[in-house]
Amino acid sequence: MAENKIKLALYLNGWDYETGNKQTLKNNAQKITVKEFDISMKSNIFCPICSTPITRRPLDKDNSTNGRKACFSHIPTYSHVECPLRVPKAEGKLYNTEEEAKQAIDNKELVVISGFKSEPPEQNDSQAEEYDQTPVEDNNGPLAEVPISRHTGEVFNLPSTSTSIRGLCRNFYDNYNRYYLFPEYTSAILLSDLLVDIKKLSKKDILKKIENPDQLPMLYYGKIISSYYLAENNPNHIKFTQIECAKGFDFCIKAKGEYQERHGIKDNSNSKGRVVLCWGTLEKNSELGYAIRPVWGEFALLPVQYEKVLF
Ligand SMILES: [Zn+2]
Repeated sequence: MAENKIKLALYLNGWDYETGNKQTLKNNAQKITVKEFDISMKSNIFCPICSTPITRRPLDKDNSTNGRKACFSHIPTYSHVECPLRVPKAEGKLYNTEEEAKQAIDNKELVVISGFKSEPPEQNDSQAEEYDQTPVEDNNGPLAEVPISRHTGEVFNLPSTSTSIRGLCRNFYDNYNRYYLFPEYTSAILLSDLLVDIKKLSKKDILKKIENPDQLPMLYYGKIISSYYLAENNPNHIKFTQIECAKGFDFCIKAKGEYQERHGIKDNSNSKGRVVLCWGTLEKNSELGYAIRPVWGEFALLPVQYEKVLF
């Protein structure tokens, strides 16, 4: 995949790669997309993972002379610095010692997910249904035995988190460049590498996944076309939320109506065009369609301000 991978650059005036503290950069930099870059930021933008200075190509226009879209790009001076955001893609992140992996968790560079919440939190009538007012959905999970050691066969015991996609969407820009070790996975992978645009999947791509008995779940995303019940409007029934996809078939998220509505996927007037993120595996839904069937914690609407990093 030759697609450029730096979607969010760190912009911090006056920070220096040779002398600066990386944590200072991560805590204080503004995260900017390719479109938000302007020429005054030149020399002050950095890679979100390896922290080396990066550039935008071209610097001042949206497209280069050969018609390629503008993108952020590493600078050859620093090609000796390893970075998973360089193409070709690196494998999952490995750590030398358990201490080092724990440190990465403390620094919020690595998250070990023990599972997703299957049921919503107790409904509190006084709570507005906005994201900011929902209860925290991250809880400490059990110590997990995880195979992310650089030394073959060694396993680390690391604190895990039980979470929901809704929790993950809340600080989406921060989470976008973190390593996640999700259930069923044996390596820690950047969240940005687990995101799959449903609209870019051909029927062949989907069938290849469905026919694979070891299909791994991914974080699928797409724009909502409509959301409806098959028969009566009963929130205890399954509701179908149709997602924009390639021509020739349809694609939907099938989940309990009550859960969809509490996530903000209500009637078509308020959810059409919004972006939904859904963790799961693909399955056949009907003669013409495919679906994902998430539990409560496996899907959520992405807050509108974060959509620009995905499209
Ligand atoms: Zn980098």
